[in-house]
Amino acid sequence: MNRLVALVVLVLLAAPRPSTADPAPPKLVVIVVVDQMRREYVEEYGGRWTKGLRRIFDEGAWFTEAAYPYLTTLTCPGHATIATGAMPSTHGIINNQWWDRDSQQLVSCSADPTAQEVPYDGNRQRGPGGSARLLKVPTFASALSEATHGQGRVVTLSLKRASATMLAGQKGDVVLWIQGGGLSSSTAYSQSPEPSIARYLNAHPVLEDFGKAWDRVGKAKDYKYVDDGVAEKPPPEWDTKFPHMMQPRSGKPTTFFYEAWGESPFADAYIGRLASATVDSLKLGRGAATDYLAVSFSSLDVVGHDFGPRSHEIQDMLLRLDDTLGGLLDTLDKKVGRDNYVLAFTADHGVATIPEQLTAEGTNAGRLKMTNLMALADAVVSKKFGPGRWVAIEAYAEFYFRMGVFDRIAADPDLLAEVIKVLSAQEGVKEVIDGRKLAAPPDPAVPEDAEVTAARKSYVPGRSGDLLVIQKPNWIFVSEDKTLIPGNATTHGSPYPYDQRVPLVFLGGHIAKGHFNDTCSPADIAPTLSRITGVPLPTATGQVLKEALSAQ
Ligand SMILES: [Zn+2]
Repeated sequence: MNRLVALVVLVLLAAPRPSTADPAPPKLVVIVVVDQMRREYVEEYGGRWTKGLRRIFDEGAWFTEAAYPYLTTLTCPGHATIATGAMPSTHGIINNQWWDRDSQQLVSCSADPTAQEVPYDGNRQRGPGGSARLLKVPTFASALSEATHGQGRVVTLSLKRASATMLAGQKGDVVLWIQGGGLSSSTAYSQSPEPSIARYLNAHPVLEDFGKAWDRVGKAKDYKYVDDGVAEKPPPEWDTKFPHMMQPRSGKPTTFFYEAWGESPFADAYIGRLASATVDSLKLGRGAATDYLAVSFSSLDVVGHDFGPRSHEIQDMLLRLDDTLGGLLDTLDKKVGRDNYVLAFTADHGVATIPEQLTAEGTNAGRLKMTNLMALADAVVSKKFGPGRWVAIEAYAEFYFRMGVFDRIAADPDLLAEVIKVLSAQEGVKEVIDGRKLAAPPDPAVPEDAEVTAARKSYVPGRSGDLLVIQKPNWIFVSEDKTLIPGNATTHGSPYPYDQRVPLVFLGGHIAKGHFNDTCSPADIAPTLSRITGVPLPTATGQVLKEALSAQ
């Protein structure tokens, strides 16, 4: 009897998946990320959803209080967190771009100088590739590929390179994003295009959407707020009001078309159809091992930056995404089977309301110009060190001095205190944190405010800023050009609920329907998928969301 117990224990230890009622792992794991999908949209606009979004929230295991607990609520950190089940302080992706102290330049989170582009249309000259080489821990997808000796295929699709590469991680069979007006991959993943997808893209070029008009799918009166909201800032050839044309006024297919298309529901619909076509052509979910498909829909983010979360454009994007996701779910049901896939649905971050819309209502809000903060710090340091540009860059909260300058400042406590005092005194700044404090563990005897705790979860020594500038709620950072902050009207990246709170829902086989109000975050997705599939992911620090699992 004891030997039998020992045998049972051994078997249980060998299989991390605890469910005995449903021992078969899913045939396909799907992650759907909607870039910039604010948690509040579900209540505010969800009443009109009838298809894919409706089904996800009605039939899934919805974690209603999910939020990123860290400071840098941006695309790349968000996708890296979803993919690895760890915080930026562990996975290393602290921002979309950060100042590389060795090369003294900005580095993109998905940059890889050793990789070249693999264009899917074949006619273009190869540009830079990209990969997740700056990610410090494995993704669930890479662990799955490893555990199945490459039999479980890893496919990721997005408009954005950062999203596609992070969701794949170190390994990927098909990792696709839009670059130079077409779909591209990187030699970090494969040396040549996947033929069946190349054929699909050739038969369905993005240019098929050229000349189309984006108008509201419903009646104007059914949309909340107004079409031409205060301080909306559409791209140069568009108006604040519908319709928006998928062609420049010149009528010629310039690069404007690709920008307009990426800022429209046509791009999401295209990525959705491409995902369905990929499930079909690669027979995902019908192989020997569990396959992985991750799709990140980027266009809501692009629209949100220019039109804000109250716009008719955002409401219309969500209505059309409802339809697009309905189509993808139908394909999964038909080709893979409802009980044979498990889908995790979430977002990488939320967004702030356009500050001028809030100030018009009497709420304190505003814009913090990063160049102004840099000039102020330069002025203080110049009084001690002589005139010069002492600050290298500010990227959202991350504030970097030029090589060796911060060590000199830190060696003079009065000077450091003066820099922090001057920056902290600016309207819209809540506090300025000396990054070195975040490298040391917190002192339990000293109470810490929520923003400092959030900053710890985003902090990586050597990679993070010398100082971290925390804005007040409803204040956003703005830059003079679009390099660091895309769009014009609003952004995200703060440690406040409008940026941190996101939807988090599981759907499909192995999943128990319900609403759960646990404190949790998208870092819990990968550990939960690890439990369901039995793929070990020891570097994940998130928790298994057990309430989502059926037959436990
Ligand atoms: Zn964004």
